[in-house]
Amino acid sequence: MPELPEVETIRRDIEPHTVGRTIRSLRVTERRMVRRSPSPASVETAATGQRIVALDRRGKFLLFRLAEPNGTTLALHFGMSGAAIYCPDLNMAAEHGENRHVHVRMELDNDTALLVRDPRMFGEIFISEDIESTLNLGPEPLSKEFSPELLKQKMQSRASVKGALLDQRRIAGLGNIYVDESLFIAGLHPLRKADSLTGDDLKRLHAAIVGVLSQAIENRGSTIGTYMDAYGEKGSMQDSHQIYGHEGKCGRCGDEIKRIKVAGRSSFYCAGCQK
Ligand SMILES: [Zn+2]
Repeated sequence: MPELPEVETIRRDIEPHTVGRTIRSLRVTERRMVRRSPSPASVETAATGQRIVALDRRGKFLLFRLAEPNGTTLALHFGMSGAAIYCPDLNMAAEHGENRHVHVRMELDNDTALLVRDPRMFGEIFISEDIESTLNLGPEPLSKEFSPELLKQKMQSRASVKGALLDQRRIAGLGNIYVDESLFIAGLHPLRKADSLTGDDLKRLHAAIVGVLSQAIENRGSTIGTYMDAYGEKGSMQDSHQIYGHEGKCGRCGDEIKRIKVAGRSSFYCAGCQK
């Protein structure tokens, strides 16, 4: 699923094409993608005719800041399999729009369009006038406020460290891939209790999270399953994964890489490196 680095890559790709433009029309053709707003029509009506004043990201959500009323946001989440497709002209939008997995079509006032393709339909689109309250997310791991001390506060949980890191209310934007990578780099077992981490553990984990997310953005995200950027290109971060999706021997210590379920998610770790 698109995690923080993938959504940030999409955001950077489409920001220059969307900010300052007016939404000529918005069509949401899949009812299941509208869960927090009353109906597809309510989202379409609220967005149509609006100028996009900024394009932000919060966790795994892409946020179109709309002009009226001040503070209104059109939020998009890509779920398990969603992708944004930037169409520099309406012919391309019409071609891609015929795909049965395209459920959102946003046409802008300069004859460009943004489509969302989501085969599994776990993604969503909605309007909020107070997006911070609606989303209720933890801090951004690449923000200045994110420190080992703040991480310590957020890890005050009896859950496993992996479960706590996946909890978007504690820290925003991490998913299965980047949690596994961060825990491997920090040398922490995914089943360690979150509130048992020492000061040194938290420093290493903090550095690992910031490092791996930054590197993943530089590499334009990870394409494991269906993820593509807004231009339909794959990311390359998967070539730098050290543990996620790996089988056989650990590249660092030579021990066998193990795969277990943690917090309901398939998890990779090395028993030699992650005690
Ligand atoms: Zn190892």
